[in-house]
Amino acid sequence: MTEQAPGKVDMEKIVSLCRRRGFIFPSSEIYGGLSSCWDYGPLGVELKQNIKQAWWRAVVQERDDIVGLDASILMHPQTWTASGHLQGFADALVECKNCHLRWRSDDLTGNNCPSCGGELTEPRLFNLMFKTFMGPVEEMANVVYLRPETAQGMFVNFQNVVNTTRKRLPFGIAQIGKAFRNEITTGNFIFRSREFEQMEIEFFIKPGTDEEWFNYWLEERVNWYVKLGIKRESLRLRPHTKEELAHYARVCYDIDYLFPMGWAELEGIANRGDFDLVQHASFSGKSLDYFDEETKEHIIPHIIEPSAGVDRTFLALLCDAYDEDIAEGEKRVLLHLHPDLAPIKVAVLPLSRREKLAAVAKELYADLRQCWMANYDDAQSIGRRYRRQDEIGTPFCVTVDFQSLEDNQVTIRERDSMKQIRVTIAELKKTLQAKLEGEDLFVLPPGGSIWKEGESS
Ligand code: ATP
Repeated sequence: MTEQAPGKVDMEKIVSLCRRRGFIFPSSEIYGGLSSCWDYGPLGVELKQNIKQAWWRAVVQERDDIVGLDASILMHPQTWTASGHLQGFADALVECKNCHLRWRSDDLTGNNCPSCGGELTEPRLFNLMFKTFMGPVEEMANVVYLRPETAQGMFVNFQNVVNTTRKRLPFGIAQIGKAFRNEITTGNFIFRSREFEQMEIEFFIKPGTDEEWFNYWLEERVNWYVKLGIKRESLRLRPHTKEELAHYARVCYDIDYLFPMGWAELEGIANRGDFDLVQHASFSGKSLDYFDEETKEHIIPHIIEPSAGVDRTFLALLCDAYDEDIAEGEKRVLLHLHPDLAPIKVAVLPLSRREKLAAVAKELYADLRQCWMANYDDAQSIGRRYRRQDEIGTPFCVTVDFQSLEDNQVTIRERDSMKQIRVTIAELKKTLQAKLEGEDLFVLPPGGSIWKEGESS
């Protein structure tokens, strides 16, 4: 990774926006924070929820061939022997003999400590799984692990899902959940943390159809990011070299995003072959094969795994959506977030705090929040209020002015173009619905009109 990708927003701006507007805070900040753990604030939790919902919708709700699962984080410790994580989930770690900072040896380009230039130790393997104890006695027999990936919960439930859903190959299981890795080097904000969330699909297929399904998922997953507004040129597919291939994978591609610090992995897509089902069948002694009705044979399905990170998607979306322009002679910060992802869909802004206006505006707000996350803001000038909403990516503001009291109309102002239309209160909800679904702003409802250019209604 390079220091700063050319033409990209710098990370400082993203971190500062997240902090200022309540997207992300350092974890346990009043105690000085906990290294590489983060808390999602009031707006962050909405954006994160919307990302997960968009993924779930695309991979579960809108498909016949994938079902969901929510497996527990703590699993039988044998799981991790079978999966290879106990033996193999390790990074080579070196330590500086001078300042004692530790580094992942595959992150280093030279032979000296990047911080002080000191001499480094020989690499030692360091297991990335967090250990804890089940029950009151802290002894080896009670050791359990915080899962380092959600995948294993889906493999061990393969037979349960086949039996209860009667799904036939090819089909998948999808899961969203927390994963934990005791990473040696963290950093770049939420890009690499020790507690994070994954969105994973395990797609079970007939052996021999691997290539076809692998290519299908590569395309499908890239398109998902593009549909949510990430620029295609900020994404690339990168095949893993033989040396970096995980122990379970036959082929693996990363979907990389051009982050401010350079190209880095957003999602990994792997052909895991039959590794996982064979291993779990062998360690558990339970059959995890599948009866193929067509050939009347018992087979072990192969698995294609698209594995994405919620937090990295969050960061990529913010970096891609961040923009600055000039509005009315002042710098404006805005997030071009897709309406499905925007934490707040609509803000209701009364032009003044006067009782008569406030009453109408509050009634509208109460009505709109039945449908969407909405904000009510009556503090400071209307221009300032628009800026506040632009900065958090709110697609539409509804302004109630004195004329509204006479003609029962309000203006809808669109974030990116700052253009406005005027619609009757009776048509407001339907109009917002259509615009949030992508209808052009200037397609007018009955009684609607294009409002004057500029900002104040
Ligand atoms: P990296 O090479 O960056 O360490 P990885 O190849 O180990 O990542 P996978 O095991 O493929 O990652 O995990 C799937 C996805 O989970 C990644 O593409 C990423 O989005 C997310 N992820 C993995 N580790 C972290 C982490 N420490 N912090 C945040 N997200 C992570």
